[in-house]
Amino acid sequence: MFKFLRGLFTEAPIVTVPKIENELIRTFEKNIEYYKNNTCPHCQFQYPEEIKRKRKCKNCSNEIFREYIESTKERVLLKGEEFKKFKLIEEEINLIKWIQKECEYFNIDFKNVENLSKERKLKIQDIFWGELNKVSIELFSKRKFGKYSLLRRMMVIFLKKENRIEKGLFLVFESLFLELNGCDDNLNKQFDLQLSHILDVDLGHLSLIEEKINLDVDDMKSKFISHCKPLFMKGMIYNSEEAWELINSRLNPMG
Ligand SMILES: [Zn+2]
Repeated sequence: MFKFLRGLFTEAPIVTVPKIENELIRTFEKNIEYYKNNTCPHCQFQYPEEIKRKRKCKNCSNEIFREYIESTKERVLLKGEEFKKFKLIEEEINLIKWIQKECEYFNIDFKNVENLSKERKLKIQDIFWGELNKVSIELFSKRKFGKYSLLRRMMVIFLKKENRIEKGLFLVFESLFLELNGCDDNLNKQFDLQLSHILDVDLGHLSLIEEKINLDVDDMKSKFISHCKPLFMKGMIYNSEEAWELINSRLNPMG
């Protein structure tokens, strides 16, 4: 059941949070100065007052963008193409910070993720993905189905952030199937009807994937059933067919 988890590597430079934050500051050093001196980044026209928002330069009529560097609380004035680059680096920083936070929640050593990334010359994101798969296997074998389900959902959110949510179809299936069965970390009562529910966030992810890979309802149904059948275990409330009917009635309430 873990065969779909391998080989999701992407190509991009290897970075860590402080490194990438330094890169942001270094790349836009002169733009920090432009802001401090109220200077147009295109024509170097100097304004008498602070440039408070995005505007057209009254001297050269080019667009001036204003942005904020969170780590140093400095502002920058940017040209259009610099603005795009700034946003890309900022996005990467936010993703790595998010990874750091999720590592903490799932007891993954972020320092180790960083070190492995340097050692193996792979992106933090890819090492993180590998660690998530390890933790998945561990949680499942320890029958911590509650946390396992949360982890599967978080993995889908990660794929979404990386613009490849379509790879998360089976992960969404697992979250839905386990939570419909009221999964719990309690080893004495692992499935509880009172905990049974379907979350809108999972349905939303499913719809997004459905759209992206052009899956019709019958395809989805057969994929769901064949993936979840082997996951059916003692104490569960719904088998994969029954679970699918419930999910489908939420996805397509008109029938
Ligand atoms: Zn100008």
